[in-house]
Amino acid sequence: MNKYYISTAIPYINGKPHIGHALEYIQTDAIARYHRLVGKDVFFLSGTDENSLKNVQAAEKAGKGVQEFVDEYYKEFYNFKNILNISFDGFIRTTEDRHMKGAQKLWNNFKKEDLEKRKYKGLYCVGCEAFYKEEELEDGKCLEHKTVPEVVEEENWFFKLSNYQEKLKELLEKNIINITPEFRKNEWLAFIDRGLEDFSISRSAERAHNWGVKVPGDESQIMYVWVDALSNYITGLNFGSSDESLFAKYWEQNDQENREVVHVIGKGIGKFHVLYWPAMLISAGLDLPTTEFIHGYLTTEGEKMSKSLGNVVNPEDVVTKYGTDAVRYYLLGAVSSTKDGDFSVSRFENFYTAHLVNGIGNLTSRILTMIEKYQENKVPALATDIFGTEKFWLDYESAFAKFDFEEVIKNINSLVSKIDLKISEEKPWEKVKTGENISVLLYQLVEGLRHLALSLVPIIPGTAEKILSQLNLEVSDNFAEEKKWGLLQEGKKIKKADILFVRLEK
Ligand SMILES: [Zn+2]
Repeated sequence: MNKYYISTAIPYINGKPHIGHALEYIQTDAIARYHRLVGKDVFFLSGTDENSLKNVQAAEKAGKGVQEFVDEYYKEFYNFKNILNISFDGFIRTTEDRHMKGAQKLWNNFKKEDLEKRKYKGLYCVGCEAFYKEEELEDGKCLEHKTVPEVVEEENWFFKLSNYQEKLKELLEKNIINITPEFRKNEWLAFIDRGLEDFSISRSAERAHNWGVKVPGDESQIMYVWVDALSNYITGLNFGSSDESLFAKYWEQNDQENREVVHVIGKGIGKFHVLYWPAMLISAGLDLPTTEFIHGYLTTEGEKMSKSLGNVVNPEDVVTKYGTDAVRYYLLGAVSSTKDGDFSVSRFENFYTAHLVNGIGNLTSRILTMIEKYQENKVPALATDIFGTEKFWLDYESAFAKFDFEEVIKNINSLVSKIDLKISEEKPWEKVKTGENISVLLYQLVEGLRHLALSLVPIIPGTAEKILSQLNLEVSDNFAEEKKWGLLQEGKKIKKADILFVRLEK
């Protein structure tokens, strides 16, 4: 079976997660579930970045010990598993012993000629955990945080990224690492062409408040948090532990030709993933990721989310009000997968009502009510496909291959409209009164509903499962067969259940 390894980035945990975090988890989960659906052996990793200086500062501010603080806040992210129905197979906290060991093993494997201890003076943004040059700032401030970086002078270990200038260019140009979307790839190619500079990969233990992963053989230094954080993608597979079988299975993979190692990240951390991480892996003699999918940011009501504006949306609140699948459907279907998107309550409610209440929910109930009423709850005899499901699945698969969730959901919504329209045109409840046979149409409708439910498995798995269970079916494990028309067997008992999506009160 083909292996498929996919990861979210690991967020630092200086506070509760916001709706922007939810976007990345839901996107990654949809991809993971899609690849499981089509029959791959998927490993989905998530985790938390607990060694960041931002955690230390947030803990100090909260009057807590750092360990106590991260022990409390990592749960907020781990809980996405329940709140958003996120199906990760592994979760790595960077304060875990297996992570520390793996990060140190990675460091020890770096080619000696790629490391150098240098005296360094630079402008450091704690928010980004990165040094900046004067010209990278705007009015002397970090573009991301709008704060003035501090001047830091100390002796650090440097990684000679300049050794990898040509190699990185080649990796991107030849799609050895496939950067999606294309415009991001072009941005990074242009960046490489301006010349790559070596970067500091450690800091003094003092400046790090002695928090983080110790540099092997140099107790005065703590690893630069990004070096340690990036290594989570392999330490989460137990790289550096006594049993590295997960790493061998999902990172290295037997079948080199079909090898798939996918990182999902936000646009703000491209530099670390597109440049630093591959260079570090090559230096350590390890295999590279094959794809990096870069999503945009989420604003709320058209504004950048910030604590000071008081417009930070907590995903848990939205889930409590509308349900997990409503949030998943909106973030995948109403927000661009690669550009910036917006979370707005009125848009959310309109999308929910149009596509879930009036769309999927109403259609399911309409079809199953007719099967109940006119067919004694049994599936009629096989009839031909009138909804073009073969084409539907081709479009569906090609949209997933491009990570274009908006397109996936557009296709799903148009299948719903197509089936709905057929019911409105044919008016089976009138035909039945005149004694006309409607069983052909009813088969087409209920089999169409099965296809719809199958397509929802990666997107809104809870709803998909509910529809499939009403059709007396289990979630598929043989997609190639399941996507064929005519699988619902004549005479199969269906069981109509409660409505799927509650209409919002005016
Ligand atoms: Zn910054």
